[in-house]
Amino acid sequence: MKPVIALVGRPNVGKSTLFNRLTGSRDAIVADYAGLTRDRHYGDGKVGRQEFIVIDTGGFEPESTAGIFKEMAKQTRQAVAEADAVIFVVDVRAGLSAQDHDIARYLRGANKRVLLAANKAEGMQESPLLAEFYELGIGDPHPISSAHGQGIRSLIEAALEDFISPDDEDDDDATSDEDRPVRLAVCGRPNVGKSTLINTWLGEERLVAFDLPGTTRDAITVPFERDGKRYEIIDTAGLRRKGKVFEAIEKFSVVKTLQAIGDANVVLLLIDALEGVSDQDAHIAGYILESGRAVVIAVNKWDAIDSYQREMLERSIESRLSFLKFAPIVHISAKRRQGLGPLWQAIDASWASATRKMPTPQLTRLLQDAVSYQQPKRAGAFRPKLRYAHQGGQNPPIVVVHGNAVEHVTDVYKRYLEGRIREHFKLVGTPLRIEMRSSH
Ligand code: GDP
Ligand code: GDP
Repeated sequence: MKPVIALVGRPNVGKSTLFNRLTGSRDAIVADYAGLTRDRHYGDGKVGRQEFIVIDTGGFEPESTAGIFKEMAKQTRQAVAEADAVIFVVDVRAGLSAQDHDIARYLRGANKRVLLAANKAEGMQESPLLAEFYELGIGDPHPISSAHGQGIRSLIEAALEDFISPDDEDDDDATSDEDRPVRLAVCGRPNVGKSTLINTWLGEERLVAFDLPGTTRDAITVPFERDGKRYEIIDTAGLRRKGKVFEAIEKFSVVKTLQAIGDANVVLLLIDALEGVSDQDAHIAGYILESGRAVVIAVNKWDAIDSYQREMLERSIESRLSFLKFAPIVHISAKRRQGLGPLWQAIDASWASATRKMPTPQLTRLLQDAVSYQQPKRAGAFRPKLRYAHQGGQNPPIVVVHGNAVEHVTDVYKRYLEGRIREHFKLVGTPLRIEMRSSH
């Protein structure tokens, strides 16, 4: 499970700049999907091999009692509560302010691992400038430059000291192991029917074991078996066992959702048929896309709407979640136990697709057929020449296409190739990435 880092500090010290630096590389993946709503306050971060979740908080004024500031303070407290480590950002150029002291006092009482980041330190004579920040009682200031990417790695390593795992956490290898249970994250906003669905499943299927102690910290996974296959449901909603059934007890937590997605093989996104696609659904969908995980969309409470509403809802899903159009959409009623068979088929198919092996000869033949049917467009003096293809990764599958002048291959053409590959290998419910590589 990915650790969580919260960025805290007064306005203008460089929190968003740091956030963008920590999460930046991920943006590229989603940049070209129209209609993708993104909540810029949460993101997946990666430094070296270490992955984590990062939360940016607005400008924090611990003493605020009114209006928007009060709301911001509340959000910051929640972020701090959910974090494993807090990075308190100060501005070395501006020096210490009264606000910094207030925040420090709050953080000292928060009982969390707190690191002090002295930002905007590029090109500065460090020691004399940093001296005053010891006053905050947070420990050694780490000089960084968010804008120039200096000092970031050692800051993150220090923040996650307790979490940096030796290489045994190589999930990519583990997930290709067919004997392992498929880890399924059930996501969706409160009241969409997560606990109803899970309880329905557990009522129907042989339960292997209840109350396995969660992995680390307080996540729970619910293992069960169906048709001889093993699964593990990963909690996103603070599901707690109440008597024989599960109940969602906590209000929606982006952090829990992100952790569950990060931990999953397949993500099930539940949409409430009675409510339609909300902004929150679109946010979660955006995180799923960003994660590269296999995904199935289930529209729950299908029993509760009429045929006209069904048609409108389908259209709204198509347009609002267009960036997940590779995901199968299944209509279910968790309460009436309808559509559950097709739902499991979709889950299995998505996982099978995410881990599909695509042999080089087949891929290359497919590429050559596709090219002879339709060549890539000439770009000025260049006509891209595509020669062969091989699989560059699984989960999500990556196809690497080799050739000449491949930098001139258009996005439209890449989508054409993607379509051909999906069709041939029957890929559903998984993103497919196509990378172009010049032969020399
Ligand atoms: P936030 O309000 O804390 O999120 O701060 P921002 O990230 O919006 O940054 C505030 C200002 O500081 C912007 O003008 C940034 O360009 C600038 N800034 C951020 N990081 C650095 C840095 O490392 N060095 C310098 N010189 N300026 C920075
Ligand atoms: P959670 O917060 O996502 O765990 O949602 P719950 O499982 O607690 O369900 C919220 C409400 O939706 C409850 O009143 C359920 O009875 C109702 N509900 C769940 N599934 C269905 C369904 O398939 N059809 C209808 N009509 N209601 C449902």
